[in-house]
Amino acid sequence: MQLPFKYHSNLVAHEVAHIIENYHRLEFWQALERLMPEYEEYQSGLIINTMKYFKQI
Ligand SMILES: [Zn+2]
Repeated sequence: MQLPFKYHSNLVAHEVAHIIENYHRLEFWQALERLMPEYEEYQSGLIINTMKYFKQI
């Protein structure tokens, strides 16, 4: 199973936000929200898909 493509942008935005802030502090989530305002909508789907992936391996 591969991660559906629509979640790839969430992963990229996450990593780009880490350029601004190393840790998952408030500044990180604010940077992520500026990069991808709809990140919360994708976040739960990303977690669910990741759990499905690990159940298969
Ligand atoms: Zn992170």
